[in-house]
Amino acid sequence: MRQGRGSRLLTRRAFLGATLGAAGVGLVAVVSPLVRGAVDPGNLGGGGTANVPVFDAQRSYNYLLDQVRLGPREPGTPAHVACRDYLRERLHESIGDASLQPFELPMEGRVIPMWNVLASYHSANPRQVLLCAHWDTRPTADEEEDPANVARPIQGANDGASGVAVLLEIAGLLRAYPPPVGVRFVLFDGEDYGPGSDRMYLGAKFYARNKPAPDPEWGVLLDMVGDRDLGIWRERNSEQGAPQVNDRIWSAARAAGHGDVFHDSVRWSITDDHIPLLAAGVPVVDVIDFDYPYWHTLEDTADKCSPQSLAAVGETVLHALYADGGGG
Ligand SMILES: [Zn+2]
Repeated sequence: MRQGRGSRLLTRRAFLGATLGAAGVGLVAVVSPLVRGAVDPGNLGGGGTANVPVFDAQRSYNYLLDQVRLGPREPGTPAHVACRDYLRERLHESIGDASLQPFELPMEGRVIPMWNVLASYHSANPRQVLLCAHWDTRPTADEEEDPANVARPIQGANDGASGVAVLLEIAGLLRAYPPPVGVRFVLFDGEDYGPGSDRMYLGAKFYARNKPAPDPEWGVLLDMVGDRDLGIWRERNSEQGAPQVNDRIWSAARAAGHGDVFHDSVRWSITDDHIPLLAAGVPVVDVIDFDYPYWHTLEDTADKCSPQSLAAVGETVLHALYADGGGG
């Protein structure tokens, strides 16, 4: 059974073919030369200028490679545990805080252990922002044609490692450039376990039931943000649940010089880790490139991702973070 995250999953390939055929869309991430500079306060409502630290695209990509080198990171495997420890160590190195939030998936005759990886920077700040991504990878390659291949686990370079790679790079910048808000990092486990939706978004569901107070003012979920041909549209559930956060992110994208990557209209409707959080009242949006040709295939490998794409997303999130003077 194929269980997708997009309500339009069944038409996805046809839709993509039509779009690409008609428009010849070839989206290429352009890295802004801006690294430290004035943010246009008119775009961001932050009331002034903000210095934004340099997002190191190659270092972020190296974080992606580190994860992929461990092999598929599906729950219940040694690679999964190794990745968990790697993430905890990187976050602790960066911001001096990291912890595991364990939970279990009961299966027939056994339990699968899973862990959200949490880290908090300036947790005492009354103003908190949530940055999250899933770190587990899909145990099956559902979109492969050959049934023998469908049964194999994916590498998850984009679907798993990419969002985490962006967040690890951002975490590494905070100590030298303290942002105006506290930042909570949550790396979700069990997003892609499946096969069905009753066994997906598990870490996000658990976190939503056990989240710390106070709730963040806003949050961003990064998923599949490494595609070398990156194109991100506003996601429909995010737009309905937290339109003000989408506005903030798309403004930041323009300020960061990535308006060509962040298309300012709604495209996919995606069920992802933001749904349990939105249901719990946390305003989180899904930043996702769902037009990834290698989604849930054995071809979701590091060469399909690029440092420039990670940087386009990372610089956008940094602009949103550092321009956050409150309000809106
Ligand atoms: Zn997936």
